[in-house]
Amino acid sequence: MRGGRRWSSADAHLDPALKRPNLRLFSNALVQRIETDQRRAIGVRSGTGDRSCVAHARGEVVLFAGAEKSPQLLQLSGIGPAGLLIRHGFNLRHALAEVGRGVQDHLGVSHMLRATEPTLNNRLGRRPGRLAAGPRHLLSRNGPPSVPVNQLGGFVRSNVGVVHPDLLTYCNPMSYLGQSCLARASGGTRVDGQAGYLLCAQSCRPTSRGEVRLASADPGNPPMIRPNSFSTDHDRDMAVRAGRGLRGLAQTPALGAVTGDRLVPDLADWNDDTPLADFRARAGPAFHPTSTCRMGRSPGNAVLDAPLRVHGIAGLRVVEAASFANVTSGSNNAPAMILATRGAELLLQNAQTLNRPESVRCNSRRSKPSSWPTRCPARRALRHLPAPDDGLRDHLGSARSTTPLSGRTSWPRWPARCSSASFRTTTRTTLNGCGAPRTAPASRCGRT
Ligand SMILES: Cc1cc2nc3c(=O)[nH]c(=O)nc-3n(C[C@H](O)[C@H](O)[C@H](O)COP(=O)(O)OP(=O)(O)OC[C@H]3O[C@@H](n4cnc5c(N)ncnc54)[C@H](O)[C@@H]3O)c2cc1C
Repeated sequence: MRGGRRWSSADAHLDPALKRPNLRLFSNALVQRIETDQRRAIGVRSGTGDRSCVAHARGEVVLFAGAEKSPQLLQLSGIGPAGLLIRHGFNLRHALAEVGRGVQDHLGVSHMLRATEPTLNNRLGRRPGRLAAGPRHLLSRNGPPSVPVNQLGGFVRSNVGVVHPDLLTYCNPMSYLGQSCLARASGGTRVDGQAGYLLCAQSCRPTSRGEVRLASADPGNPPMIRPNSFSTDHDRDMAVRAGRGLRGLAQTPALGAVTGDRLVPDLADWNDDTPLADFRARAGPAFHPTSTCRMGRSPGNAVLDAPLRVHGIAGLRVVEAASFANVTSGSNNAPAMILATRGAELLLQNAQTLNRPESVRCNSRRSKPSSWPTRCPARRALRHLPAPDDGLRDHLGSARSTTPLSGRTSWPRWPARCSSASFRTTTRTTLNGCGAPRTAPASRCGRT
């Protein structure tokens, strides 16, 4: 939040950069696949239906379509588990078994309790309160919409002897009706009209891993996600600890003093099996999917090497939450941005290795957002990520010798507003889009 308004990563990082002459943003264009030549990524194809075009990359293609869509795009490009791609009739360009495997997320369960003091329910659970909140926010930038809903929380150890905190708990001064999975899926959840609050707990370090795989050859169709939750003893044990922990928390003197009835789960029949059964019935993801294109030592157990390059494909990196080796113990938005910052450094070093002075010039100190403090902890954390080494230079050197950089850059005429951004000078092609739409130059590309 900034000045009472949501301030996204696009507001913070992309919008200031849009002034640069070497950056163009295309919004609302669906990337269909990554174009490859032999074992090198050479661009991305985007568009819809039979109207599509290719943005060529002289340098590298950087994929960051999210932990669910990035593996799907790799698979649509013929890079992924051989059996899956052959089954869908794809031309297998590079067999890489781990593409899409290993997805992790935080699963959380909430306990709803009535409160003896007014909470946000008293305003947002009733129509007049909801109607008043909007104009108030517009006029004064304060009121319920200007505050995050998770107002207090903490990382806790679930048991004596646990070395690192293993549960994330938080409290919202708001509670909901319709908390079953079915109610949530059908949009049936609504804010309770009576004072209440919510306690939630999620395991910080789940060990279950699922899979994301394409369901059809249409890039517009969502991939199939099999989360494989609770498939390990550790995760089942943590579900029990989470349930017991929340029950104990609500019984503390401080919370007990403001707590009325308990709504969900019903504690009347609480027994040893209740926490796991309740977790299974009502838990939901925290929307922190990661690790579907994860870093690792070898193509046998990973998709990326340490500098985030796809194993076996030159000129292609994945830089986002999908690249994490495992889910972070806390929320993953800030870690994704930290990784992106490190990814940008690696790209710049690559550009320098390729000895293209214009790339170095345009991405020097100016690329640092003015709001980014030089001594901030995020930058210090970056030092823990690997720096490119001689291996990177060898890799790039060999890629360059087998596929000379042609210098091709053709600008697409997008069928509609799109979401692919190209850094023209460095000729990196990226797959993300947010912020203000930009018009592409109407030349050199058309119906394909
Ligand atoms: C409801 C919700 C609440 C969340 N709350 C929090 C929170 O409180 N704290 C926190 O830390 N994290 C939170 N997260 C998680 C956070 O949003 C992610 O960690 C973060 O966005 C991951 O960044 P990313 O770059 O990996 O992927 P994303 O931010 O998902 O970016 C992927 C982008 O690629 C685009 N894209 C995908 N496919 C294509 C295609 N084929 N062509 C073109 N573009 C494409 C998408 O439109 C999207 O813009 C929340 C997520 C959700 C959904």
